[in-house]
Amino acid sequence: MPELSWGAASDTGRVRSNNEDNLFVSDGLFVVADGMGGHRGGEVASQIAVAALRANFSDQTVDGLIEAVRRANDAVFSHATDDPDLRGMGTTLVALAPIDEDDDTALAVVNVGDSRMYLFRDGELERVTEDHSLVEEMVRDGRISPDEALTHPRRNIVTRALGIDDNVEVDGYPVVPYKGDRFVLCSDGLYDEVDDARIAATLRRFADPGEAANELVRLANDSGGHDNISVIVVDVVDDGGRAEGASKALARDRRTTTSASSPDLAGFTAEAPARPAGAARVEPESRPEPEPPRPRRLTWRVAVFVLVLLVVLAGAAGAIGWYARKSFHVGFDGDQVTIFKGRQGGLLWFDPTVVERTGIARADVPPARLRQLEDGNEVASLDEARRYVANLQDQIDALDPPTTTTTTTTPTASSTSSGATTTAAPPP
Ligand code: MG
Repeated sequence: MPELSWGAASDTGRVRSNNEDNLFVSDGLFVVADGMGGHRGGEVASQIAVAALRANFSDQTVDGLIEAVRRANDAVFSHATDDPDLRGMGTTLVALAPIDEDDDTALAVVNVGDSRMYLFRDGELERVTEDHSLVEEMVRDGRISPDEALTHPRRNIVTRALGIDDNVEVDGYPVVPYKGDRFVLCSDGLYDEVDDARIAATLRRFADPGEAANELVRLANDSGGHDNISVIVVDVVDDGGRAEGASKALARDRRTTTSASSPDLAGFTAEAPARPAGAARVEPESRPEPEPPRPRRLTWRVAVFVLVLLVVLAGAAGAIGWYARKSFHVGFDGDQVTIFKGRQGGLLWFDPTVVERTGIARADVPPARLRQLEDGNEVASLDEARRYVANLQDQIDALDPPTTTTTTTTPTASSTSSGATTTAAPPP
């Protein structure tokens, strides 16, 4: 088993009249419990839980520690049921204990509620436990940000606690410690007042675990001390040679950990514990294995978004179509003057369509009009298009009267009449 040294501190804080936290330290078990319940309830619940845990922790395995927590739950629940004054009391609990594993250097961690354990390793602080609290669930669901959780008015509501029900879900898993590791067990009275950066800075400054624990409690009080504050600092003094010359093994373990544990536990070596017989409600496996991403589902929000998008796209297409097709133009279809509906050249996928063929050939069009018709003479209406064609026909007729009677005598002569140029055809 690893050689450990530790220090602990607990304080009522600056606001509460009594300390409902309870802690226990020995070389075989470290516990922080944060009681809740009116009158004396919280104080009693945390005391009963710690005492029952100590009494029932005999099988030094992860499963043994989980089972002891469930016996502690039984004890608090039965007291709460039997004594009307204590009805509704409960307590959180986080515990760390050396256990008999194959390599005999492992520790076991259990928690229920929002008391926490941190690991300080290589100068970095990582949270080991997951809070069973309303705000943490809201953060996981994406309803609030981690920063909002820090000041959320309902941040002290826990979703799991000992003594509330005759059964309890317990998170439990082993930790492989390395020399130099520092574990911090604490109630929410610490982390509600002192952020992770200040906790880490304190652990860097104070090498002695007792001094570090006292300083953390002092910082929490200086920040307001709104709740009871309990802190245990456990240092790994000797790991049986695990860390010595084991940088390669450490790197390998960390790679294993990174792929086999939750993001919170990066750099923290944990193994998935076996589920104890009959422990249907214990969820240790959920911690080492990150949850697979949930498949995307078509929610009503997505459906409404898609529907609105389709309506907008249909409206835009309709507007473009209306704009492209609202006018007419007179141009050439092949070599024939033609009235088209729509803009010359079309717009996007709206091509102009033939409305009327006029029977006027390109060769008959006066040169002055050719360019205009090549470009497509745009008009507002079909009537206007027809008037344009009639005018064109008049111009052509004036140039080359349909009677074909030659009225001039000079083949090259030309004259202007009524604004139209008349050119004589050569004599036969
Ligand atoms: Mg508290």
